[in-house]
Amino acid sequence: MSDEFLKYSTAALHGDADVREWGDVAPPIHVTTITEYEEDPAKLFVAGTRPRDPSRPAPYSRIGHQNTERVEAVLEELLDGPSVLYSSGLSAFHGIISLLNPKRVFIGKGYHGIHGVAHILQRTGLQLLPLEEIDGKIEKGDVVHLETPVNPTGLALDIELYAKKAHDAGAKLIVDATFAPPPLLHPFQHGADYILHSASKYLSGHSDILAGVITTKDTEFKKQLVADRAFIGTILPPFEAWLLLRSLKTLPIRLRVQSENVNKIVQFLSENKSKLPKLAKIYHSNLQTEDFVKKQYPLGGSPTFAIEVSDEETAKALPNALKLFYHSTSLGSVHSLIEWRAITDPDVSTTLLRISVGIEGADDLINDLAKALK
Ligand SMILES: *Cc1c(COP(=O)(O)O)cnc(C)c1O
Repeated sequence: MSDEFLKYSTAALHGDADVREWGDVAPPIHVTTITEYEEDPAKLFVAGTRPRDPSRPAPYSRIGHQNTERVEAVLEELLDGPSVLYSSGLSAFHGIISLLNPKRVFIGKGYHGIHGVAHILQRTGLQLLPLEEIDGKIEKGDVVHLETPVNPTGLALDIELYAKKAHDAGAKLIVDATFAPPPLLHPFQHGADYILHSASKYLSGHSDILAGVITTKDTEFKKQLVADRAFIGTILPPFEAWLLLRSLKTLPIRLRVQSENVNKIVQFLSENKSKLPKLAKIYHSNLQTEDFVKKQYPLGGSPTFAIEVSDEETAKALPNALKLFYHSTSLGSVHSLIEWRAITDPDVSTTLLRISVGIEGADDLINDLAKALK
């Protein structure tokens, strides 16, 4: 097993050392929405004339609270930059787009919900252009939104390529890296300007938290996102933040097992495809041959991938023929999941199944899949 994963365990467990209070090992949940002001009248100032003293808790929890700040400290280390937590991945996307406020966003295929947010922003004048039309059209001030590995297939797109196209034109690149959290992918190393994660997936890892993150390269930009978040009201609530902090402690070991499992499963399926009559196609970045894939995913691809089966009927029946995969949406959980994806996304082929690999034994998962595909 690769030690690359465990290097991250130190940050996952100790990244919040500076924001720890009163020597607590397991943190409390701060449910208060308000905190007391300074007692000393000399320390009371008119709103907006002084920055908030970071050594004191925020006066109102829509602005900030200790549970969220503590998780952000851990995420800053895991995700390579100052990070802002939101109540969902979609509100994180809304937060970054509202602050950048571009006239145009180039956006590719991918998670349908992100497109839903983009369509809401179209009402106030945002123009959406397909990612394929970027050449010759991209201009200064535009934003490129790249999802990689992309939903629902888990195929990798070249971050460096789109970073160059964006930066040559004076545009910015957001990478939605939800499918490949660290250490699988480090989007800043390949030219991304901002990273988005739906923390509802791998970062939380147990299908019990809705959360999102934007990671930036500088603290000033983070402050602006936090200021906007205070008005939009999309901060992650205390209980979810507390639970996410707990979940992050096991991210590296969860991901190490999920990653090893998916590598074995994809290899098995591709080597035995001819013996599995119902299996028509396998999508996963481990099967891609372009040079950038190995460079950007040195440890292998996302633990989420997709298959196509012979026909729609088989696709609808397969989830129930499996014992170890829940037929459910979402991804990133410790439990393996499978989804007949057309249920959620009408633009996806009706023979496609998305599979999110959990931490069960790889051989058990392989046997389960092989039996059902025969
Ligand atoms: C789930 C998901 C989102 C949206 O995140 P929520 O936390 O569900 O709001 C965004 N992008 C991708 C790639 C996702 O899988």
